[in-house]
Amino acid sequence: MKRKIETSCVQGGYTPSNGEPRQIPIVQSTTFKYDTSGDMAKLFDLEASGYFYTRLQNPTNDYVAAKITELEGGTAGMLTSSGQAANFYAVFNIANAGDHVVSTSTIYGGTFNLFSVTMRKMGIEFTFIAPNSTKEQIQQAIRPNTKAIFGETIANPALTMFDIEAFAEVAHVNGIPLIVDNTFATPVNCRPIEWGADIVTHSTTKYMDGHGAAVGGAIVDSGKFDWLAHADKFTGLCTPDESYHGITYAERFGKEGAFITKCTAQLMRDFGSIQSPQNAFLLNLGLESLHVRMERHCQNALKMARFLKSDDRISWVVYPSLEGDENYELAKKYCPNGTCGVVSFGVKGGRSNAEEFMKNLKLIAIETHVADARSCCLHPASATHRQMSDDELLAAGVSPDLVRLSCGIENADDLIDDVKQALDKLSF
Ligand SMILES: *Cc1c(COP(=O)(O)O)cnc(C)c1O
Repeated sequence: MKRKIETSCVQGGYTPSNGEPRQIPIVQSTTFKYDTSGDMAKLFDLEASGYFYTRLQNPTNDYVAAKITELEGGTAGMLTSSGQAANFYAVFNIANAGDHVVSTSTIYGGTFNLFSVTMRKMGIEFTFIAPNSTKEQIQQAIRPNTKAIFGETIANPALTMFDIEAFAEVAHVNGIPLIVDNTFATPVNCRPIEWGADIVTHSTTKYMDGHGAAVGGAIVDSGKFDWLAHADKFTGLCTPDESYHGITYAERFGKEGAFITKCTAQLMRDFGSIQSPQNAFLLNLGLESLHVRMERHCQNALKMARFLKSDDRISWVVYPSLEGDENYELAKKYCPNGTCGVVSFGVKGGRSNAEEFMKNLKLIAIETHVADARSCCLHPASATHRQMSDDELLAAGVSPDLVRLSCGIENADDLIDDVKQALDKLSF
């Protein structure tokens, strides 16, 4: 019987046998001992599964990866040192120099930079299209060398919803996979694989850890994409890897295991962006309460969004679960139980009032972070986008009055009172 998401959050990924530790053990060891060189050779040839060096794999990480895989409904998963590493690996595992990827334009700034600057230097080209593109518009962006489509379930910080089903349909017509960054929704609120996504990524730094304690990432494979049916496109998965005695991943490990095995055996081996077992342990503590926290994050954010909407000192509010929001219908479809804790809004009086407002907050802290148990907020115009003029900000889709508020799991009325007192001190 398939268990419910709440049970998977608490108990997924690790089932101790008689007399074994109840909590997942932290295997704080770089290396693993074998009786014969032959035993180890089998690991190096990927003929047996096991551990030999923590730059590639570690049991603690694998327990936690297995839990996230269960939560997303995938067949294989892995942890990475950060969300950045997860998105880099997920794309680079199937796209090489000379290849092309289609991505929505409203993605996390770090990912946008990774794609448009760093991966472009590696010879991979990206086309960025609007998240509300029609199927025809998505199709127009696809080229013969396109290897994947990428988007975020709920975009950070734009808070647009990704129409996963529509993008998956176009991807599959073209014989390519859809990669979805599910960081903001988490599998508690949306499971992209159920809507057609092939690969799911996470910055576990956000809600999954949820306590501002450990940077991390994860990749989950749905096990549904048939690489061998498109062998000409995905040569890395469908032709022999000489660094592992000529095995062909898609043949040896099947649809269910090829992507993650290649990603571990090649990319983790060569780049080594592994999560530390200690951090994986902390991440697992966060996952145990993810379902409980997400419910409260969403309740608090909805109350906050409704309050902001009703206050005439606020010029605009964006929150996909708020009635009347541009993305409300998509949010209802993909995240019927709630979207996330992040709300963005404008304070009347522009940049100076927004800055003053932030300074007046007492409970809500100014941070370059979101999705934490503690409420925090950021004024991009005076922080991350500080160097830009008001005109340049508007061109970048960040208005000078924009405040990004990440509602934590405190009492909602206390958070609203904090916002009220900060607004009361402004002059309009
Ligand atoms: C934060 C974030 C990332 C990057 O994750 P790090 O853990 O900071 O490297 C990627 N995608 C989304 C949607 C994010 O919010």
